Amino acid sequence: METQNVINFESFSNKVGRFSLKERTCLIPEMNRMGCHLLAANFRSFGIPAKVLETFKGMDLGMAHTSGKECFPCQVTMGDILHFMKQELARLGSEFDSDAYVYFLPEADGPCRFGMYNKYQRMVLDSFPRFSGLRIGALTTADGYSLSGIIEEERVTDLRKSSYVALVLGDVLDRVLWRVRPYEKEIGLADRVIEKCLAFMADAVERFGQGLQFNQIFLRLEAVIEEVKAVMDPGIPPKPLIGMVGEIYLRTHVKANQDVIRMMEKHGAEVVNASVSEWVNFSSYEHYRSAKTALRFSFKQLKFGRFKDHLKDLFTYGGDLFYQEYRQKQIYKRVSGMLDLAKDHKVSHLEDVLREQDLYSFDLGTEACLSIAGMMEYVREGYNGLVNVYPFTCMPSITTSAIVRPLMNKIGVPYLDTPYDSSTQPGRESAIRTFMYQADQHLKRYGRHGF
Ligand code: SF4
Repeated sequence: METQNVINFESFSNKVGRFSLKERTCLIPEMNRMGCHLLAANFRSFGIPAKVLETFKGMDLGMAHTSGKECFPCQVTMGDILHFMKQELARLGSEFDSDAYVYFLPEADGPCRFGMYNKYQRMVLDSFPRFSGLRIGALTTADGYSLSGIIEEERVTDLRKSSYVALVLGDVLDRVLWRVRPYEKEIGLADRVIEKCLAFMADAVERFGQGLQFNQIFLRLEAVIEEVKAVMDPGIPPKPLIGMVGEIYLRTHVKANQDVIRMMEKHGAEVVNASVSEWVNFSSYEHYRSAKTALRFSFKQLKFGRFKDHLKDLFTYGGDLFYQEYRQKQIYKRVSGMLDLAKDHKVSHLEDVLREQDLYSFDLGTEACLSIAGMMEYVREGYNGLVNVYPFTCMPSITTSAIVRPLMNKIGVPYLDTPYDSSTQPGRESAIRTFMYQADQHLKRYGRHGF
């Protein structure tokens, strides 16, 4: 297909940002399968035509349009969007109009390359004249993933609330799968049942999300738990419990991490992965924390000019965080009476953990805050091993490894780093098998606690 290499800088401001999704199809890249499909269902509930992009089908395109030095998630998502656009062009022919789509690619501010994915992908998309109309919907951590501007202002708060609930439901379905699959009565049963349940829950979110009829959704979630529980064979003894952290895309994208959870299960593990909603809570918490600091600073310096703005931020982000933690707790509580699932860590508690042990600081930011403190919590809760999953060369995850690995060596908790790119390392399975042997020894010596 014809390409051109002229960079149009206006494109970064005109075609990357927040756009109305009412008349355009919203394309959501698949990260964790459950959460993304439920999020798309929730968008549809609000009348936004949304679909989840097929993932990993366009890896060759992703590789062809990156240099290899970018973070792996950038290559995967690049391939996903190019693959979709090429397929749409082939399907629709002369009726294809790239302006009819918004590609949903959030970003993060701060010391990380994630903030540059959408700019880079904008340049690549602009090099295809037929794709240059595609807009990139860039929600950002800079304003706590505000959804303002994508639908009518009076419905933004409802969309935000129900989108958060959809993400927590996705986390819960993931955790249910990891809880039951190691104990399934026949191989493949858990995957089949959970896939059916995902469709059932997506239907519930699409019907009830827009009206915030959460009780209707939660009733269906309870029915799902009842059905999935029956997959477990009560005769299989508890297995070593492994806590997983890392870079959010890699640890939740099954194909990109070469299905690391399944491989650990193959060698005898039960795994709990850090959740997606933890990251959303972290983003709100960071803003709340910054507003508190700014307010204190204004007082101390007697600078009252921006006092009102800081106070407004404090209430906005504090309110978001309060709502999110309340909903998250409510959902886990409804489920935990039926099936014992690992709860999420509260972000303020994770900051306390880092402060008490003087390991790292929230002032430095990045996912390392969550990963380091999350692993210390897994240890305190009595997990039998820890895994850090991340893209090859990922800065926050390497920082995590540098801090946590020596600590785990010292206290005798099995620890494994698993970096990924598009290649398959021949020794990966043996490393996991060795790690699982150590975790099994840990279980025999100290027992299994956790949740
Ligand atoms: S978190 Fe890691 S993978 Fe993601 S942009 Fe930053 S360095 Fe890259």
